[in-house]
Amino acid sequence: MEWYPRHRRDLPWRHTRDPYAIWLSEVILQQTRVKQGLPYYLDFISTYPAVHDLAAAPEDEVLRHWQGLGYYSRARNMHHTAQQVVRDYAGQFPATYAELLKLRGVGQYTAAAIASFAFGEKVAVLDGNVYRVLARVFGIAADIAAPSSRKEFQALADTLIPAAAPDEFNQAIMEFGAIQCTPLKPDCLFCPLQHQCFAFQHGMVHELPVKSKAKASRTRYFHYLVLRHGETVYMKKRGPKDIWQGLYDFVLTETNAAELPATDLVDAVTAVGGQVATGRAEEPVQSLRHVLSHQKVEARFHTIWLRQPLAGPDLRATGLAAFTAEQTHALPKPVLIANFLDKGWK
Ligand code: SF4
Repeated sequence: MEWYPRHRRDLPWRHTRDPYAIWLSEVILQQTRVKQGLPYYLDFISTYPAVHDLAAAPEDEVLRHWQGLGYYSRARNMHHTAQQVVRDYAGQFPATYAELLKLRGVGQYTAAAIASFAFGEKVAVLDGNVYRVLARVFGIAADIAAPSSRKEFQALADTLIPAAAPDEFNQAIMEFGAIQCTPLKPDCLFCPLQHQCFAFQHGMVHELPVKSKAKASRTRYFHYLVLRHGETVYMKKRGPKDIWQGLYDFVLTETNAAELPATDLVDAVTAVGGQVATGRAEEPVQSLRHVLSHQKVEARFHTIWLRQPLAGPDLRATGLAAFTAEQTHALPKPVLIANFLDKGWK
């Protein structure tokens, strides 16, 4: 805590006790680096300065602001939680850790962060930075990826946190992990905890914390049919139970291989009531790769010119809708699709 005031970064959410602003920053910063998350935070807080503003916004618009941060379920949960706070709590965030946990998408970490930063409750936060600092300083070999280890770390953090300044303690230990006791190159030489740090004293800085490997990622092959007619392109909103729920993309055929036979391509166009126009030069197929936490997406974009526009009940049944190039920019899209439109739109 002596180290913190001298080294902390000056970040906008550290100047407020507004639980809404703190919650917003925490949701954005989960699994996102501060540098990447900061512009998103500034954008959200200026577009939606209060929880009522966010609650009243259309979901598409919220997802559009979120675009590029990934983990879109977080954005949807965030939007839902804002509505929950307005509806069930008269627009006031609950003021205790236990009550905060009842909000959707608010887990133990976020609840502890809001409770301590906004309301001064003595509850210790545990994030990746805190796990690392505690594991190294106290020589804890429990696997931090195992949910069962949480109790051990939480019990330790609870004994350390002072009643007088729980918020400062939480900020300090997280910041210490973020900039001093970093994963790969901790600055042990100039570390104030050097003499009491188990890992440093035992030459185990790179052995701690123990973290079991994440699941191997799988590769998925997406073939996007970019159906076009005149100035129109057809896009659809993705449904639940897969990545990118609620975002817009094109007609999609997923296969086990990188190539899609021409006959399958024509079948896929026919399945949505389209007819491939003949006499129109074929567009070269464009390929893009997108890496997610547990999967890699190899995407190919096949631009198909239709003989006639899609229309009527057929169009509604497919979930597709017609957009102009300009309109597609306002839609919330996976980054993969945004990249394609930026690079490939003609
Ligand atoms: S001595 Fe090194 S490993 Fe130990 S707390 Fe300091 S920076 Fe982290």
